[in-house]
Amino acid sequence: MPELPEVETIKRSLHPKLVGRKIRDCEIFYEKCIKTHAPEKFINGVRGATIENIERRGKYLKIFLNTAEILLIHLRMTGRLIISPKGDPVTKHTHVIFHLDNDLQLRFIDIRKFGTLYLLPGEELHKVRGYRILGPEPFGEEFTLEYFKKAVKERKKNIKTLLLDQDVVAGIGNIYADEILHAAGINPARPAESLNGNELEKLYHSIKRELKKGIENRGTSFSDYVDGEGRKGKNQDYLSVYHRQGCNCSRCGCEIIKTKLGGRSSHYCPGCQE
Ligand SMILES: [Zn+2]
Repeated sequence: MPELPEVETIKRSLHPKLVGRKIRDCEIFYEKCIKTHAPEKFINGVRGATIENIERRGKYLKIFLNTAEILLIHLRMTGRLIISPKGDPVTKHTHVIFHLDNDLQLRFIDIRKFGTLYLLPGEELHKVRGYRILGPEPFGEEFTLEYFKKAVKERKKNIKTLLLDQDVVAGIGNIYADEILHAAGINPARPAESLNGNELEKLYHSIKRELKKGIENRGTSFSDYVDGEGRKGKNQDYLSVYHRQGCNCSRCGCEIIKTKLGGRSSHYCPGCQE
């Protein structure tokens, strides 16, 4: 699933291609991915609109239109947004095509079909529950050490599951949660309330560092993730624990283990994550 570094990389790759362009037309091949409108209304809402900006919030992409509406997109498990020349063959699993006012198209492609698109005025973004509950951005001013310590102490659950809660901090998913916990030397199954001040501080800095590393490496590509121009990221070459079960930990040499935690796969080193 694309997480903060992947969605940020997609945003950066789409920005120069989309901002200032007009959406000439739109085609929908899979109606259910549009959550706010019937297909014809959605098409009418975007047709003729100019793209003014594109931003990321958590794992959401926000495409600002000059109509004062925002096209909000969540890629979920396998969603992709790809810029394609209009003559390129339309591949299987292409659900929406936005025709731009040049020779390019923005295509929404999604094998698993969990990805979602919303079109709504900026002041109505709160109507999308997943968006409304988002906690602070990890690189935003609100995400202070004090905030993080308080947010963790208030919750009775394991620390891995807590990191995945989008209302604590926005944008972390399964890959980066595992990497962050290894970087901080904390076992994913630890009850959040058992972490001491020193551990919470390490964890706080690990969140920022691991996400930053993911962005610098332009995301983690195992199977589906590519940026807006179809390029894979390279962060998979720099992972410490995720998908490395059976390998030796680079820090202590112990064998990395894969378990299940809260229904999700979890990778950690039993030697140096306490
Ligand atoms: Zn280790």
